[in-house]
Amino acid sequence: ERRKYIVGNWKMNGTRDDLGEAAAIAEVASATDTVDVALCPPATLVAPMADRLAEFSIGGQDCHHAEAGAYTGSISAAMLRDAGARLVIVGHSERREGCGESDAIVRAKAERALADGLDVILCVGESKAIRDAGDAERHVTAQLAASLPASFDSARLAIAYEPIWAIGTGDVATVEDVVAMHAALRATLASRIGDDAAKIRLLYGGSVNGANAAELLAAANVDGALVGGASLTAVKFLPIIEAAA
Ligand code: 13P
Repeated sequence: ERRKYIVGNWKMNGTRDDLGEAAAIAEVASATDTVDVALCPPATLVAPMADRLAEFSIGGQDCHHAEAGAYTGSISAAMLRDAGARLVIVGHSERREGCGESDAIVRAKAERALADGLDVILCVGESKAIRDAGDAERHVTAQLAASLPASFDSARLAIAYEPIWAIGTGDVATVEDVVAMHAALRATLASRIGDDAAKIRLLYGGSVNGANAAELLAAANVDGALVGGASLTAVKFLPIIEAAA
């Protein structure tokens, strides 16, 4: 019932020279009608990508939690929407850890994005130290509970579980660990919103590639993938989309 959702996060990579890669990805995505696909390029490419690929879902990688104002260097949800974005990632660990974003800030960003017309991919994930201490499920479910918007349409929110130690390392989480975490996330959502929790897509992210995608995507409660490095080129990204189809 939950359509698979494959999302590329280009992080701080890409210039207008890479619009052709995005077009190649969009072409295959549009021909794959059983899977939802989106690309989140750096903010500078949202408008040119959305202009060129009108039917394709383009997203931002972050937004500010305020509507507008004196926040030098920041980008609002409304600006992303105006540039043609349909969604935004919030709470990526590279912002939680790298930019000191708390659960409360992430929650405020998610609420602002939904209010301003963007769908949201809300990221959670634990560090290696927390995983090794046996505290991963408690930590990640608490992070989710504290970052979830106060109210939301379950069709417009997806959750991405991205263990920090698996991001960009080639050290993908085991299917067993992903299944256990996603079950815990689903239970956390159910305790908040009841039966509607079954509608929310849970994505896994962290070293997903064409070789491991099929096994991950076949696992219980794995409704898609948030892909970094392997989303930068059509050659690497298309096998992941195909694995979801
Ligand atoms: P990699 O796929 O490069 O490990 O990155 C995952 C990620 O952080 C996507 O948001």
